[in-house]
Amino acid sequence: MAQIEDSVNALHPYVREKLLQSLKECKKQKKFVSVFETKRSAERQNRLYSQGKTKAKAGDSNHQFGLAFDLCFEKNGKRTWEGDWNSVGSIMMKHGFAWGRFFSSFPEDCHFEMTFDIPKASLRNAWRSGGHIACWKLVDAKLKKERTSTRLPFPKSHSEENHVSITDILWKILSKIIVKKIKK
Ligand SMILES: [Zn+2]
Repeated sequence: MAQIEDSVNALHPYVREKLLQSLKECKKQKKFVSVFETKRSAERQNRLYSQGKTKAKAGDSNHQFGLAFDLCFEKNGKRTWEGDWNSVGSIMMKHGFAWGRFFSSFPEDCHFEMTFDIPKASLRNAWRSGGHIACWKLVDAKLKKERTSTRLPFPKSHSEENHVSITDILWKILSKIIVKKIKK
């Protein structure tokens, strides 16, 4: 039987960070959830598929890409899928996760993922050529692009630096006039 991977280290570092932040908030709100499964092996994915427990075959699930995970509740030291998913789901969504409850094909309360708007076909192709690491490279490129683009739209337009530079320009014009007058 394929082992169930529940380590957050099997998730992309950004997804991992967001998950850890979310778990902290869940705990604060007394919603005791834990990670049931993160990255899933192709073997396990296909087995779940054959059991009708998922719509995705190996390579079609964000679990293989290290971008999805399933949570469960902890009650009296036991794992259960019965609990306040409404609260947990809203905490997770606040941290940027897509919630499986709203998936049209296979809704699941316990499933959360973050795919950074990367098309499924791109992730699938990357996974086939280089496994989850290739998928993570796509995510890294996307994150890098987003980080640089957020700096672009308003380059210091309302900052004080801009006022200084306008003053500088005015001063330069003024000083040229003064120099001209002196030369006369
Ligand atoms: Zn899942």
